[in-house]
Amino acid sequence: MIDVAAAFSPSYAQARQKFLQACMAAGLRAQAHVHPLKGRDGEALAMDVALDGAADARHLLILTSACHGVEGHCGSGVQVFALHDEEWRQKAREAGVAVLYVHALNPHGFSHRRRVTHENVDLNRNFLDFAQPLPANPAYAELHELLLPPAWPPTAENQAAIDAWMAAHGIKAYQAAVTAGQYQFPDGLFFGGHSPTWSNQTFRRVLREHAQHAQGLAWIDLHTGLGPNGHGERIFACKDDKAAYARANAWWGAEHAVTSIYDGSSTSALLNGLMWNSIYEECPKAEFTAIALEYGTLPMLEVTDALRADHWMHKYPGKASPELAASIREKMLEAFYTDTDAWKGQIISQARQAMFQAVEGLTRA
Ligand SMILES: [Zn+2]
Repeated sequence: MIDVAAAFSPSYAQARQKFLQACMAAGLRAQAHVHPLKGRDGEALAMDVALDGAADARHLLILTSACHGVEGHCGSGVQVFALHDEEWRQKAREAGVAVLYVHALNPHGFSHRRRVTHENVDLNRNFLDFAQPLPANPAYAELHELLLPPAWPPTAENQAAIDAWMAAHGIKAYQAAVTAGQYQFPDGLFFGGHSPTWSNQTFRRVLREHAQHAQGLAWIDLHTGLGPNGHGERIFACKDDKAAYARANAWWGAEHAVTSIYDGSSTSALLNGLMWNSIYEECPKAEFTAIALEYGTLPMLEVTDALRADHWMHKYPGKASPELAASIREKMLEAFYTDTDAWKGQIISQARQAMFQAVEGLTRA
């Protein structure tokens, strides 16, 4: 067991080092899938994978961090803590549940404090069949120019136009328009891509190598940036399947019901191209049960504005002064990571509970 705060890191480079050290201390071999680009400080980037348990275990729990790059400060902390948590490891071991840790699904975004991949893609909107017509998002198309105006901070006129849009359509519709995913503007927000990203292809390789034999497959995918500060919303993360939803609620819904994007109970909008589509494609035989554990940080509009600023800076390279660029990067970190001991304590205790519940659920049968 290590100190909660010590499990978290202020940078990707340190987070990776802590993860690799934790694997070593646990006697696990970590496997690096090296990313083609370098990180912010010139460091190597990788999706690191470690399996704790038997390679042929019938039950497998996958625990993933940094789908959305900068959100990895949270997820990495959970993974590092878990690897040092002997009580947790023993619980899984005795139940015969193997645990697959995937550290930094999107290491480039993590290192560069961005939510998107180096392709400017929202990885959790990138898992769909690109041979088919892509989902339309006409509301985003209306907002795109307003969201990324030529000048930052936005002018009073820009703010007034956004406020008018929200007044006309409602704040829920604004959230859905911006976050549902769009496939029309490659320099825009929540762009789902036009082809599978590096992270998409690499994660599928990881699934093929480690998850195809599992009969019972659970996944907890760690996210931040939505909901009340420190609260971990358990968002159902499977296809719209009644039996899977009932299972997710039985495992994880004791205190707070598992929320769903299908019935409007989640603070998340209905989304396209979600990562879990890969499980149905790569591991079709598994009984699959999953949640995204989504921890709150700042209010939704502040998070959205942090993302607008970040995308503005990348859409107009060289426009931001060094001071403005630094403040935009600082705000991105704050929007997805609350750097306090109290928040980290809430993160660990809720994640740990969900992990124990997953082991019990997988072996209940
Ligand atoms: Zn996320």
